[in-house]
Amino acid sequence: MKLEIIVRKVEKEKVVSEKLIKEVEVKMAKTILDLGFKHKEQLEIIGSIQEEYIPLQANMISNKYEKCEKCGGKTRKDGMHYSNYHNSLSDHKLKMQGHACKCGWRKKPSIHGEYGTNVHPDLIKMQAVLGAKMPYKEAEETLEKISCQRRSVNNHVKIAEATNTVGSILNKVKLKEEVDVSGDTEHLYMYVDGGHVKNKDRKKRSFEALLAAVFKEDSYSESIKKISRLQNM
Ligand SMILES: [Zn+2]
Repeated sequence: MKLEIIVRKVEKEKVVSEKLIKEVEVKMAKTILDLGFKHKEQLEIIGSIQEEYIPLQANMISNKYEKCEKCGGKTRKDGMHYSNYHNSLSDHKLKMQGHACKCGWRKKPSIHGEYGTNVHPDLIKMQAVLGAKMPYKEAEETLEKISCQRRSVNNHVKIAEATNTVGSILNKVKLKEEVDVSGDTEHLYMYVDGGHVKNKDRKKRSFEALLAAVFKEDSYSESIKKISRLQNM
């Protein structure tokens, strides 16, 4: 038995084209390694499917400029060019149609020009999460392992840029966050305790530390409930 993965393009309920993405002979797996597709194979399958899907969407961007943005007239085709696009797991070079108008207006559409970036936010998210947790070089190596290949978009400089950009945006959002001061209360509880903490240097004297917390009545009873629940466990 064989298994075929096929991408089928359908327009007005008619099959326009079919592409065989992968073909495998179905065999019983002798070891767990052969059960299902390997990590690299999965990435290749997804990459090949995206390679069929994304150009269709890129064509739609080009179609947008059949009408001149300046005078509204019909434009003519003005050469093809390539635009780079980086999805979470695959890179694509998309062929895009340029347009020109009699009035002098010209358009050379690109992914960056249309969306302000040519990197999918899913990838930026992965870069920023890893970049915030480990050195950028290490994040680069981790992403290389995840995508089974070295990708220029995942080099440490790009990871640093993504981490810093996301970090500064999050910082701005945090600064704008308002502290909720609603829900006044009649009583406030205060808990203060102190103790002596030994100095690392045994010859030196220990020092006194104070710990204080202020909380509302309702949160106090919540804490008590939690403690008694834990004690009954
Ligand atoms: Zn025009």
